[in-house]
Amino acid sequence: MTHIFKTILALIAVMMFGSASTTAGPFASNRITPVSQHGQLSVVGPHIRDQRGQITSLAGPSFFWSNTGWGQDRFYTAGAVETFAKDWNAGIVRVALGAQNDGSFLQDKRGNSARVKTVVDAAIANGLYVIVDWHSHQAERNTAEAVEFFTRLAQSYGHTPNLIYEIYNEPLDTTDWDRTVKPYAETVIAAIRRVDPDNLIIVGTPSWDQHVDKAADNPIRGHSNILYALHFYAATHRGELRHRAEYAINKGLPLILSEWGTVTYTGDGSVDVASTHEWMRFARRHGLSHLNWSVSDKAEGASLFKPGASSHGGWTERDLTPSGRLVRDIMRNW
Ligand code: MG
Repeated sequence: MTHIFKTILALIAVMMFGSASTTAGPFASNRITPVSQHGQLSVVGPHIRDQRGQITSLAGPSFFWSNTGWGQDRFYTAGAVETFAKDWNAGIVRVALGAQNDGSFLQDKRGNSARVKTVVDAAIANGLYVIVDWHSHQAERNTAEAVEFFTRLAQSYGHTPNLIYEIYNEPLDTTDWDRTVKPYAETVIAAIRRVDPDNLIIVGTPSWDQHVDKAADNPIRGHSNILYALHFYAATHRGELRHRAEYAINKGLPLILSEWGTVTYTGDGSVDVASTHEWMRFARRHGLSHLNWSVSDKAEGASLFKPGASSHGGWTERDLTPSGRLVRDIMRNW
């Protein structure tokens, strides 16, 4: 890529996302934040390690699909991020950039980009890590759009220690790792690495991120700081999925629980407290970071909030669902 072309791309990125600010405002305290403590992350063997080489396990919430008009896009606010940072003790948050279905980034670039920028800037201001996830089940259908989006994101935020890329939320059970997911990932990773040499990149695995064994048998080579997504829903997934995860971990595959729920895989049903605690013990044992689905007040079991909760944070006990209370407890004590 010529220098001129890179400059033009950088300008487009600034127009789209603005430039990232890491300057603390006049009222910023000297609060120790997750990012001030851990700094630039890297992947060593099966673990995330911080700037001092310590194994680092972060906990936080995942926002819901960002799609315009779906209703949960209203939670993409600076106030929500600040409350997760200061009241819930989150170390990380996840943006679920809708990249399929009505109102997604593919239809409404402006609205969805603005929501990404709001949450990423707020994460930086509060010293949190932030995953930006291409929330699609068929990302290989829009590889060019993903390359363009992540290139611009890297140009805007790749120099900050905060940003983590998640390039494919959950491939379907019919999507082959070797022939489809891995080649897609290699294309998008190469584009990110042309701009940002070091920030972590999360790759989805087949069957809604439950076949990490497929990635363990044929991992991506030639790139550093790559993680693989393992997703679970506590009322559906149990020992069998943990055994499959351990197969991958034993082969040295670095995993992240970039999305998990306390309920069934549908996002609904009642909270399975015992299974959730079993999974959290698993996460601690293996030093895994995890992000709970989801920041939502939709009437379903996985939602953290009851209908009508404020879009801008400052929530109290009254605003929380049974899942919200359990998840807040887990985060506060992580
Ligand atoms: Mg970087």
